[in-house]
Amino acid sequence: MGASVAYYLSRLGLTNVILLERETQLGTGSTGRNAGGVRHQFSQPPNVQLSIESIRLFEQFGETVGAPIDFHQDGYLFLLSEREHLQTFERAVGMQRELGVQVDWLSAGQAAKLVPGLGTDGVAAATFCARDGICDPNGVTMGFAAAARRAGIEIRRGCEVTGIRVEGSAVTGVETSGGTIATRTVVNAAGPWAAAVGEMAGVALPVTPLRRHIFIAAPPAADAWPATRIMVIDFASSFYFHREGDNLLFGMGDPAERAGFDISVNWHILDDIAPVAARRLPVLADAAIVKAWAGLYEMTPDAMPIIGRTGPDGMYTIAGFSGHGFQHSPAAGRILSDLIAGRDPGFDLSPFSLERFSRPSTAVEGGVV
Ligand SMILES: Cc1cc2nc3c(=O)[nH]c(=O)nc-3n(C[C@H](O)[C@H](O)[C@H](O)COP(=O)(O)OP(=O)(O)OC[C@H]3O[C@@H](n4cnc5c(N)ncnc54)[C@H](O)[C@@H]3O)c2cc1C
Repeated sequence: MGASVAYYLSRLGLTNVILLERETQLGTGSTGRNAGGVRHQFSQPPNVQLSIESIRLFEQFGETVGAPIDFHQDGYLFLLSEREHLQTFERAVGMQRELGVQVDWLSAGQAAKLVPGLGTDGVAAATFCARDGICDPNGVTMGFAAAARRAGIEIRRGCEVTGIRVEGSAVTGVETSGGTIATRTVVNAAGPWAAAVGEMAGVALPVTPLRRHIFIAAPPAADAWPATRIMVIDFASSFYFHREGDNLLFGMGDPAERAGFDISVNWHILDDIAPVAARRLPVLADAAIVKAWAGLYEMTPDAMPIIGRTGPDGMYTIAGFSGHGFQHSPAAGRILSDLIAGRDPGFDLSPFSLERFSRPSTAVEGGVV
């Protein structure tokens, strides 16, 4: 998010900007630990709109931003086996189509044809969007950062934000491990750590970290995995997989996981994944796990992001993307940059406002995987 905002500010000619990263490298937070999934298929219209704009940019990232991102649009396939999910997906597909996204409603048999080796036991229907896909989060981050730097924006790595100065009702500076920077504009793009940075400016952000795992399996035999890089999601269990080079990337949420910053790998979760995997991709039972890691989702109460002004004058937040933020970084960064520059972002930002949490709301994103 930080790299995207820096990039879009630079496109507007705003280059008196410093991107601060406490680690020695960019993209080692959530962005460096995600599954690279990019989809139109969300349940809330504003999220679909963020996807439409972002995917348009991913499709021409090389020409526009100037970096390769290994984007493969082999589609996202959601497998639905529970009545409640059939109803919510039916509504969501209608809404997605109204917004101009082509999403197909498939039978279990049609889904099985798309992914050889897929187990569809108990699957009542599936949805498929061919323009969904996967791409390289590191490529996107570095692409945005390099283009911003070429335009004159400074990137300071190994520089931790330790405080935010507020005088009267306005931001006046940022305290860092490398000294104080005077500024009238601060963007909090600290991902799972956004609440701590918000607190420095007296802003309470309901963003909580939640551990999620990814496992990489080597093929047990030649042609063991589906040839396609299609992202398959068993929605009832949240088990998902896609081909990653010669290997297979897979993961599944753990309903027992509690909020916290621990990113050690809990290998016991494989005991819960094994029976689901055996049902949905039986060949996985014979595969060796060659790599595993965990990262943090940055959850908000309604699984929608916070994008906009928050707290004192000059303080902005772009955080809380609830496990699907990598793919929304282009549109979200463009929108926030327009706002900072005093331009009309052409987007209704009320579903992303911090103030929404003080009102009762039913607009919860149901498409969290
Ligand atoms: C296992 C897993 C799978 C995922 N799969 C997907 C997916 O398929 N598709 C998708 O779109 N999203 C996915 N996500 C979610 C996605 O990774 C996040 O939504 C996105 O990366 C958030 O980006 P960000 O820039 O807000 O946060 P981050 O990438 O975490 O960046 C925040 C940065 O702020 C820095 N920082 C924090 N505090 C300070 C400080 N005080 N001073 C200076 N720097 C600071 C951190 O070091 C970090 O680099 C997944 C996440 C996980 C964990």
